[in-house]
Amino acid sequence: MSDLYKDNEELDEATEVSDKGTENGDVEKSEYEDVCFVCRRPESKAGKMFKLPNHICVCNDCMHKTMETVSQYDYQGMLNNANLQKELDQLTKHGGFPNISFVNLADLQGDGGIPNKQKLKKKKKKEGEEPALDIKNIPAPHKIKASLDEYVVGQEHAKKVISVAVYNHYKRVATGTMNEIEIEKSNMLMIGPTGCGKTYLVKTLAKLLDVPLAIADATSLTEAGYIGDDIESVVSKLLAAADNDVEKAERGIIFIDEIDKIAKKKNTNSRDVSGESVQQGMLKLLEGAEVEVPVGANSKNAMVPLATVNTRNILFICGGAFPDLEEIIKERLRKSASIGFNSELKDKYDKEKNILSKVTVEDIRKFGMIPEFIGRLPVIYTLEGLSKDMMVKILKEPKNAILKQYQKLLELDEVKLEFTDGAMEAIAQKAMERDTGARALRSIIEEFMLDIMYEIPKDDNIGRVTITREYIEGTGGPMIEIRSNQVAEQVKELPGE
Ligand code: ADP
Repeated sequence: MSDLYKDNEELDEATEVSDKGTENGDVEKSEYEDVCFVCRRPESKAGKMFKLPNHICVCNDCMHKTMETVSQYDYQGMLNNANLQKELDQLTKHGGFPNISFVNLADLQGDGGIPNKQKLKKKKKKEGEEPALDIKNIPAPHKIKASLDEYVVGQEHAKKVISVAVYNHYKRVATGTMNEIEIEKSNMLMIGPTGCGKTYLVKTLAKLLDVPLAIADATSLTEAGYIGDDIESVVSKLLAAADNDVEKAERGIIFIDEIDKIAKKKNTNSRDVSGESVQQGMLKLLEGAEVEVPVGANSKNAMVPLATVNTRNILFICGGAFPDLEEIIKERLRKSASIGFNSELKDKYDKEKNILSKVTVEDIRKFGMIPEFIGRLPVIYTLEGLSKDMMVKILKEPKNAILKQYQKLLELDEVKLEFTDGAMEAIAQKAMERDTGARALRSIIEEFMLDIMYEIPKDDNIGRVTITREYIEGTGGPMIEIRSNQVAEQVKELPGE
């Protein structure tokens, strides 16, 4: 229902603008295009539209589908009518549809002075914008990693593995079969605590390669026929991300987050529709299969056109935190270490920090993933939890680092914003305490910047603001410097926390 409203609002907006456009000559023609009433694809994707009364447009595919459905019924009785038959003969001569005589195609095709309801602003083509990495001529892994380095802090091992896997994958896509040796797909499984950059890494990669990316949550997936999303809906999402361009979607990336939540449930007698069954349902997608997905909608029904997408060249990346995996790994290590001369102390592994990196396929199987599923994700790697130093780097170093974003914002008011090293450390320390990874950084800074962003535009004389450790720790205020005489003063009115 809300979608309907939203659509209408969008349409109204579009009409308003297009009405203005008419005054200015041809603007409306070049900037707006029709959208199919059924599948929502714009004219540039779906081809010429049929125009129905009430400003409804329907694309060729949907119109054919509707006609086919309608023509399956027996309308012979109606067609015996001599007048109708004559009209039909005329229509078929002009390329109309047989068996249908109650739709006046002349009305549909003609413009008939219909105003620009149901229009969508055409997307402007980005000119001269080249992707950072070209998948048709994929650069060497070290170049992919260098591009990732600009955005993602730390996670050296993960970046290295992902670069090699992506390099191999797109090389395989470009060459197809090499001398009868079919190169296997390099789908990946990423393991790492929350907020350490799993999604961010994949998003950055997709952006650099300029391939469509669909991010799905494994928790919402269920076996077909049960309440929840069908497994194939992830492909449908990818198709939408590729602007319904099947060829583009077939080169895309699907990231399935929270994959650990579909682990096999232990000790259950009921059917496991959101766990093991989902893993089984995903097998054929991961390997490569032809999937029929609805275009422009997320459910299959009679009115929605279907597109066939082959998942053979789609790169699947699964990610999850696997919370109890550490215990499983420790147990295995303890078992192997407690026998014979090499036996070690029982708590030796309790203190070890990066225990997750010692993961094996056997551990993941024990966690509840079925062997067939793990087998289809041959590239397995782990991401480390973020340390305080990494947090500080995340604050200031990446290309679109949070601090740089705020500095840019204040720069628009001609105010210079600076953070002392102490302040950054204090923010990182606070973030570490929250235990949600780098996600906490943004919310902490947001809290402290609120007062600054509120107070600064009040006074045109302020030229520089320095955020100090004292301000973050709540024992003082930020340093404010006045533009004219550059006198530094500690401002006490701003409430420190
Ligand atoms: P998760 O591992 O739970 O998927 P995300 O990838 O969504 O976590 O990370 C949340 C946010 O934290 C990202 O949007 C990104 O801005 C930041 N972030 C996390 N890790 C890093 C990192 N290693 N380098 C730079 N930014 C990071």
